[in-house]
Amino acid sequence: SEVLLDVDDLSVTLFTEDGELPAIRSLSFVMRTGETLAVVGESGCGKSMTALSIMGLLPQPPAKIVGGSIRLEGTDLAQLSRDEMRAYRGSKIGMIFQEPMTSLNPVMRAGRQIREGILVHNPQMDKKEADERALEMIRLVGIPAPEKVFRSYPHELSGGMRQRVMIAMALACQPSLLICDEPTTALDVTIQAQILQLIDRMRAELGTAVMLITHDMGVVSEMADWVAVMYAGHLVEYTTASELFTNPKHPYSIGLINSIPSMDDVVDKLFAIPGNVPMLDELPHGCPFHPRCPYARDVCRQECPSVAALDGDENHTVACWMFDQTKWGE
Ligand code: SF4
Ligand code: MG
Repeated sequence: SEVLLDVDDLSVTLFTEDGELPAIRSLSFVMRTGETLAVVGESGCGKSMTALSIMGLLPQPPAKIVGGSIRLEGTDLAQLSRDEMRAYRGSKIGMIFQEPMTSLNPVMRAGRQIREGILVHNPQMDKKEADERALEMIRLVGIPAPEKVFRSYPHELSGGMRQRVMIAMALACQPSLLICDEPTTALDVTIQAQILQLIDRMRAELGTAVMLITHDMGVVSEMADWVAVMYAGHLVEYTTASELFTNPKHPYSIGLINSIPSMDDVVDKLFAIPGNVPMLDELPHGCPFHPRCPYARDVCRQECPSVAALDGDENHTVACWMFDQTKWGE
């Protein structure tokens, strides 16, 4: 399907008291209409920062886009003013977060919150019509007793119901892109599965592209069409989910996949990839993964590999010297 979002050479810098830190470096990937891209990596890898950049919600200061573009249906979001970006959010881009309580207004009934969101982006609509649309969204996300939930305050709802209300709100204006940042981390396992199924059903029914930010490779294998693996602010591998799970190339991706627990063989995550993501102010020279990489050589400690297509396949890119004969040839 066609390209909806084209992130090209995006760099984000944090301006701190102690100097400039590279939060995201030369990040490039595309998302296609109606497909799910999972952005994965350990905490601190830059995945939430990537989402905030796309949504125009980077904390300014200290974070700032210092290079590259974020084209949504041709419009470069990185060039929009805050007001223009506000109009885009909600109408073109829906968002759901880990903890819906932080994004829901605690003193406004659920139905009214959805209605207000609809009215912001459809000022010509009358309140009754917006109420009907809000109720329709509550039904669409599979909430039992929709009229009751419509009249409820957020604290009267369970965590799973609140997340459904968030999804209803995010999708009410039919955005072309839905960004989900760890949407199920705060929920228990059965509810997690239901919310993920709901997101996937909405994608299929509404044709929304879904960016799913997660550290859970089990969720990735269930949901994703494409996967972007990030490490220390760098994209290290980008390909289809089926390719990543059968033919991972970057040593970090291999470690992540090995960390998925299976029924009879629970692999300890720390065993799979020893060490931690480096702090941004302690990024090593060369490949940021080299202190943890079992294959690291001299070139890895000296130069940072750029992202390159694997065997000329633009649908599988990897940033690792191992796949560059000029650097790795015996
Ligand atoms: Fe390991 Fe070197 Fe590849 Fe980095 S570039 S992942 S250190 S082999
Ligand atoms: Mg995060």
